[in-house]
Amino acid sequence: MSMGMQKTQYDMAVEQFQKAADIMKLDPNVQEILRKPRRILSINFPVKMDDGRILLYQGFRSQHNNALGPYKGGIRFHPNVTIDEVKALSMWMTWKCAVAGIPFGGAKGGVTVNPKGLSKAELERLSRSFFSLISEIVGPFRDIPAPDVYTDSQTMAWFMDEYSKNDRNNPFAVVTGKPLIIGGSLGRDSATGRGVSVNVEEAARQLKLNLKNCTCAIQGWGNVGSFAHKFIEETGVKVVAVSDSKGGAHKQSGIKYSEVLSHKQKTGNVLNLPGSEAVTNEELLELDVDILVPAALEDVITADNAKRIKAKLVAEGANGPTTPEADDILFKNHVTLVPDILANSGGVSTSYLEWVQNLQHLYWSAEEVDHRLKAIMVSAFAEVWKTSQKHNVDMRTGAYIYAIGKVTEAMKIRGWV
Ligand code: NAD
Repeated sequence: MSMGMQKTQYDMAVEQFQKAADIMKLDPNVQEILRKPRRILSINFPVKMDDGRILLYQGFRSQHNNALGPYKGGIRFHPNVTIDEVKALSMWMTWKCAVAGIPFGGAKGGVTVNPKGLSKAELERLSRSFFSLISEIVGPFRDIPAPDVYTDSQTMAWFMDEYSKNDRNNPFAVVTGKPLIIGGSLGRDSATGRGVSVNVEEAARQLKLNLKNCTCAIQGWGNVGSFAHKFIEETGVKVVAVSDSKGGAHKQSGIKYSEVLSHKQKTGNVLNLPGSEAVTNEELLELDVDILVPAALEDVITADNAKRIKAKLVAEGANGPTTPEADDILFKNHVTLVPDILANSGGVSTSYLEWVQNLQHLYWSAEEVDHRLKAIMVSAFAEVWKTSQKHNVDMRTGAYIYAIGKVTEAMKIRGWV
């Protein structure tokens, strides 16, 4: 980072890594390797617009580390995508897969584009061109992409189809998050939110919180936040506040998942839920609740507001919602924070289950998938909890120590260091 400049997500990722590496007294050779992605493919590629113009787009695929298995990670289409962001996200994926105990390494990709400004045909051409260009480094046993911000099952269908043109087989296992009809998995849509909820239950058990007496606020009622709401509600917790990009709603008597779903279907947002008071996204974070789930954006819990967070338990649905400075403040204030690389790893874990089903051509029921996901989450939580207790550190640092330890062991036994 240069003096006076704002920290990038990559600076944050390296800072988090360094904190754990120092505590572990990690071999400097290993540190050198893990601080940077192994390979970054950066491409400029032309896309033909509907009106005949040719526009040049920039895209990246960053492969951080594959000691534990093939690279795995999403692809986002967003105007703010930068090489730094993709590098950070690929590093986080290495730790996330290691924490979840699934046999993958970390990768991430992105195209700097506002997909909302494109027609469906333009988006398809952009998706196919990008995937065709990164195809030289992806593959069912090399690197398996998935949806991320502003990409979805349709994007994955185009990706898989594009890959099949060279592969000449039906390579379902080259991407995950596909539509069900072409090898997607039941339970994938709700997986991240379900994983957040399992983590909340496990943390509550350790903290001796009776969930039936707990309240919760959820920032971001998108894929992760909405399903987190549904499953957290099922544990007996009273959700009292929700929000989206337009603002939030707060109701002390409780807000039901079904209520928000129908309101959002009718009005397009969560504002003016019957019986609720308006709250801003900033106020929502500081409400007097037991559990807080940031499930929207990065950098929302910072050195500025961390001291005002009243929740006893924070479960990070979003990637990177808490800055390192805020982490230290929360830890000092005895707020337990279940970090993103554990709390939202339900998505990639179910991606792993999708990949396994594709490879064995045998498809599981939703119950089977949910059961396997829960087992993965419970065991990941237990390992991270144990590691953070052993080192007397916050759960993020515990998760890093656990993940870095596994990746290092694999690198050593493979003879890389
Ligand atoms: P999404 O697009 O479905 O939902 C995002 C939600 O955040 C929307 O409700 C949106 O209105 C809201 N939002 C946008 N700007 C906001 C703002 N300024 N304040 C408050 N809310 C705002 O996305 P998603 O898939 O739910 O992802 C959310 C986060 O979770 C991202 O950080 C993503 O990287 C992370 N994540 C997602 C998955 C997954 O499987 N979908 C897995 C792991 C991590």
